[in-house]
Formats: sequence, C-alpha cells, structure tokens
Amino acid sequence: MTDTNALPERLLLGSGPSPVPERVLAALALPTLGHLDPAFGEVMDEIGDLLRQALVTENRVAFPVSGTGSAGMEAMVANLIEPGDRVVVGVHGLFGERMADEIARHGGEVVRVEGEWGRALDPQALIDAVHDGPAPAALFVVHGETSTGVAQPLDGLADAIHDRDGLFLLDCVTSLTGHPLRLDEAGVDAAFSGSQKCLNAPPGLAPFTVGDRALEKLRARATPVPSWYLDLNLILAYVDGEGGRTYHHTAPTNMNVALREALRLAVVDEWLPTRWERHRRAHEALRDAFAALGFTRLAPDGEGLHPLLAIRVPDGIDEAAVRKRLLLDHDIEISGGLGPLAGKVWRIGVMGVGADKAPQELLVAAAAKELGLNAGEALAALHEGWSA
Ligand SMILES: *Cc1c(COP(=O)(O)O)cnc(C)c1O
Repeated sequence: MTDTNALPERLLLGSGPSPVPERVLAALALPTLGHLDPAFGEVMDEIGDLLRQALVTENRVAFPVSGTGSAGMEAMVANLIEPGDRVVVGVHGLFGERMADEIARHGGEVVRVEGEWGRALDPQALIDAVHDGPAPAALFVVHGETSTGVAQPLDGLADAIHDRDGLFLLDCVTSLTGHPLRLDEAGVDAAFSGSQKCLNAPPGLAPFTVGDRALEKLRARATPVPSWYLDLNLILAYVDGEGGRTYHHTAPTNMNVALREALRLAVVDEWLPTRWERHRRAHEALRDAFAALGFTRLAPDGEGLHPLLAIRVPDGIDEAAVRKRLLLDHDIEISGGLGPLAGKVWRIGVMGVGADKAPQELLVAAAAKELGLNAGEALAALHEGWSA
C-alpha cells in the first residue's frame, strides 16, 4: 500500500530551504507548548541570547518574527520607515529590488544606488548618495545577495548614515552564521534574517533585531505602524514585556523550539568563527570543483558570498533539464537564476550542514554524470579544497 504521507527525501543544496539536521527535526516534534507557558518563555529567552551571539550584538531586542524572511523585511519597513522618508537603497539583485518596492509601498521615497547583478556595490557610491541632497531617514543594503551570490562590504556605511541622523538597515537572511558579520561593529541599527538558510531550521521564522537608535525612531513616529501584526510596540509586550508576556499573536511554538535547537548547533556546539571558516572552505572547494566542470563563479574574487555559490552555466547546456534530473533522479535540489540571470546561472547553497564535503561530493558526482562529464578532476579539486 502506498503511504500517502510519504515525501521524498531531498538533499537541499539550493538557495533555501537548506538541509534540516535530525536534532532540529526532533526538536520540532516535541510536545506543543502554549505560547504563555513559562517553559516556553524560557525557550524565547534562550533564543534571544543565542540570536545576540549569532548576530554579535548587544541589542536587547532580538527575537524571531512569526513569518518567513520576507516578514522580517516587512517588519523592518513597517516599523522604521514613515511616509515621506527618504531611503537610500542598494539595488544589485532581486532582494535589493524587493526592498525598494517594499519601502515605496510604505510611502517612502526611494533613492536607488544601482549596480551590476553579480558585483558588490562600491561603498563610496552609497556614501555619496547618503550625503547628497536632503538627509535620508535610512540606508538599506543586502549583506548577502542570494540572487547573485555576492557579499556586500559594509565599510563606512554606518558612519555615513549616522552623520545624517539616519538608520543603517540590513538584510542578513543568507549571511547569518555563514559569512562573517558583526552587527554592532558594522553599526547596524536593525536587521532581519530567515530560519531556513544557514541556520538549517525549516522556513517560517525571521530572526530580527533592533538597536536603541531604531527604537527611538519607532517611539518618535508621527503615524501609527501601518501593520497590526508586525507592530513592534505591540509585539514587544510579548517578547520583552515588563513583568511577563502579554498575548499579541500565538507564537509558533514548535517552530521556535526547532529554531532554538538550530541556533544551539550553530553558536554553542560549533562556535561562530569556526562556522564562518567552514563555510569559506566549503564555498571555495565547491567553486574549484565546478570550475573543473567548466562553470565559473559569477562574483569576482573577494566578492563571493560564502553560503551561496552562483556559477555561470556554460553555453549549450539545457540547465533547467539538468536541474530537473538532479532533483528527480538524484534527489538533489539546486536553484536556477532569477530575473536577468534566469537560464544563465546555477545557485548552489553552501549553508550549515550543507557546507560539508559529503553532500558536495554527491552533488558534484551527480552533476558530472548528468552533464556527460567525467567527475574525476572535479572531485579531486573538491578534495583538495577540503584538505587545504
Ligand atoms: C530568502 C531571502 C529573503 C526572503 O526570505 P523568505 O524566507 O523567502 O521570505 C530575503 N532576502 C534574502 C537575501 C534572501 O536570501
């Protein structure tokens, strides 16, 4: 008899979700707690502490927004941007584009600083835009552009926007725990992430943090936060309430227990600097393996985002057909290109437990087979990367 509940077991090496370890799945399946149970309060407190460690921040407010990474983006804009605010937005990929759209929908005036998809933005161009014209209320950049596999340098950005009394806002969805990032050192005032990229939890929560400068702006708002669900003033009574947690919405309790386990794996069991270094090695080993198969990285040296390898597909390959066979015949998921890069690149996740030699061997061997190439040289390059 066929089990109608059976799902295929895939190796998730795309742009997310990433592979979820057994320990996290087991945590997800623990008995459901109520969101006002003191035992669950302890879970939320521990998540706050672990998030501060993962983000390298002392911000008191650090909690998971109940929703995917995009809910974190919307929470940031709904709370911190008011109609008429000028916001400088770095746009060099899909996620910067989305942020520009999101800010405009909330009545912000978007000042776009654009760059080529596949390159980092010149920090000086962002700094110049911040200094030009009326003072912007905020500067926003994507730390890890998942659409292009590019890491954005943050040097000098916080000082520039703080000189003009604005906020420095960051999307760290893909970079969190996979690419070096120290939030306080970078001067970030608010940031959001997602549970299903380098943290290896299922999709559904958006780690989120705001510092004092951002909270001041929230308190000084002339207009109410336009989203009831994402209004930080209301949510903080649950997350950070004086004398206890007050009901706002039902926290997704099992998901938070799973996220806690994923965070423990990342920052307690492994330790952040070791984890960053492992992601770098994994990225470079896989880059070299695919180079042996004729694929070159989209990002130039020094601009690659360790958790996401975006590589150009050589001419003459039906890339969508190969990806489909990888998924259906080998149970391996990788991602194609988005927007102007559709049909031109593959995007391979190097995230958490996916940033390891064994899953990469499976992918490289399967890809070589489906491309009709010998895997020998590529596997040798992979092994050399891991033994270096
Ligand atoms: C995945 C991602 C998002 C959106 O997160 P969802 O969980 O899909 O809503 C936002 N920004 C970046 C950089 C991402 O990689």
